[in-house]
Amino acid sequence: MVLNLIFLGPPGAGKGTVAQAVGEKYKMVQISTGDLIRAEVASGSDLGKKLSEIINAGQLVGDDIVGEMLEKKLKNLSSSDNYGGAIFDGFPRTLPQAPMLEKILGDVGQKLDLVINIESSEENIVKRLSARWTCSKCKKVYNTLTIPPKEEGKCDIDGEALIQREDDKPETIRARLAQYTEKTAPLINFYKEKGLLKSYDGNVPPKESIEAAEKLIEGLL
Ligand code: ADP
Repeated sequence: MVLNLIFLGPPGAGKGTVAQAVGEKYKMVQISTGDLIRAEVASGSDLGKKLSEIINAGQLVGDDIVGEMLEKKLKNLSSSDNYGGAIFDGFPRTLPQAPMLEKILGDVGQKLDLVINIESSEENIVKRLSARWTCSKCKKVYNTLTIPPKEEGKCDIDGEALIQREDDKPETIRARLAQYTEKTAPLINFYKEKGLLKSYDGNVPPKESIEAAEKLIEGLL
């Protein structure tokens, strides 16, 4: 069975953490456009240099650029034999990106099954983002308040150094939140009207948030 899900929610709502956990459990691949963009930045390419300026200013990358990156990634992944579907974390992030995803999925003979909206208070967002650390190698996300690594500053999985994201600085966080409210939040109503949206309160510890998402997914199986 192939399932395709979107996680919606403000930065820091827990999309990445929940998507990682749920993806492992239901054998879906997590596709984070933020990770795709950061990989391009890390490659040092000309495009990466431009992208780095945009994301560190808390702005959104152009729809077409992100759309192309996503399409390439999905085509690549979905051609493998035991493909179980995808969890889109960070895409769509604007209204024009919603039909783009529909088309990209349609091209590989698939459709969107569910949009999970993780609600989060502004207070929680700022608190969580400033405590977020990511493995420099495998990209696993930790949070010094809620999911600390076993050994400070080191990844549990591969022992590599944990780093803080450039765009998790307070002034950039505020710009990202403003972008979310203006450009991403309208997707909530868009998917509600399509009958695809389910929301839950994400102002809870990671374990509870993961369980809430799993309950919604179980409803599809
Ligand atoms: P968060 O959800 O915590 O803000 P992400 O890792 O999803 O972080 O994204 C980091 C940055 O990458 C965003 O602030 C934005 O600049 C860019 N980005 C990610 N996904 C998209 C997208 N679908 N469209 C435009 N920009 C994007």
